[in-house]
Amino acid sequence: MTEHDKAESPARRLEQESQNSDKPTRVYESDEVAVEWYAHRCIHSGRCVRSLPRVFNPRKRPWIDVNAGDSEAVARTVMNCPSGALQLGKRSGSNSESAQRD
Ligand code: SF4
Repeated sequence: MTEHDKAESPARRLEQESQNSDKPTRVYESDEVAVEWYAHRCIHSGRCVRSLPRVFNPRKRPWIDVNAGDSEAVARTVMNCPSGALQLGKRSGSNSESAQRD
C-alpha cells in the first residue's frame, strides 16, 4: 500500500479526523464502564490485548467488547495503557445523583 492509498483509506481519514479534534475515535460502553478509544495515540504496545484478550481483540469488530470482561479489570487495563489511547469515559446513561442513595 502506498502512502497515497493509506491517506485515502476510510480508517486513515477517521484517524486524522480524530487527531485534529482530539475527540475519541470511538466510545465503547456497557452498563458499568465506558472506554474511549483515541486511535491516533496508540503506540501498539499490545498491553491491553495481553491483559484482557477477550475484551481487547484487534482481529474482531468492534475490537473492544467491554461486556466480555469484568468492568474493574477493564478499567484497570484502560488505566495501564501507556499512550493514553484508552481512557475511561463517562457513560451516557450515568447519573451522579443516583449514586448518593442509601
Ligand atoms: S495498551 Fe494502549 S497503546 Fe498499547 S495497544 Fe492497547 S491501546 Fe494501544
